[in-house]
Amino acid sequence: MGESKDNCVFCKIVGGEIPATVVFQDELTLAFMDIGCVNPGHMLVAAKPHVENLQVMGEALAGAMFRSAARAARALEAVYSPAGISVYQANGAAAGQTVFHAHIHVLPRWEHDGLTFTWPVKSPPREELERVAAQLRAAL
Ligand code: 5GP
Ligand code: ZN
Repeated sequence: MGESKDNCVFCKIVGGEIPATVVFQDELTLAFMDIGCVNPGHMLVAAKPHVENLQVMGEALAGAMFRSAARAARALEAVYSPAGISVYQANGAAAGQTVFHAHIHVLPRWEHDGLTFTWPVKSPPREELERVAAQLRAAL
C-alpha cells in the first residue's frame, strides 16, 4: 500500500530532492503549498521523518504536527480572513490518503467553494456509545 521511504514524494520534498514551495518549517515539520490546491492558500504540513500515518506517530511529532497546523491556520487568517478554515488529515486509502507519508491539509474555506463532505450520521443509543468507549479505553 504505502510507498517505501526511498520512493516517497514527501521524503523527497523534505530532503530537497524535488522542489516545493515551502512556507515554514521547524525541527519536525515542513509546511508547503499543495500543488493540487482546492483553494488558494491550501497548505500541507508534513512530518519531516517518514511516518505513514497518525497511528504510528510518536507523541512529540503528533504535537509538532498540530502546532504547525495551527500556525498555518493563523497565517491563512491573517492573509485571507477566510469565511472558514478546514483541517483534513487522511489515514489509509479508504480515508482518502493518496500520499502515504503523514500530512495535514490546512485550507481556507468559502461559502459554496465546492468542497463537499458526506457525513452519514448514525444515532446509536447511549448504551452502544458506552460499549464502544469502554473498548477504546481498554485499548489506550
Ligand atoms: P492526501 O490525499 O494523501 O491527503 O493528499 C495528498 C496531497 O498531496 C494532495 O492534495 C496532492 O495535491 C498533494 N501532492 C501530491 N504530490 C505532491 C507534490 O509533489 N508536491 C506538492 N506540493 N503536493 C503534492
Ligand atoms: Zn516519506
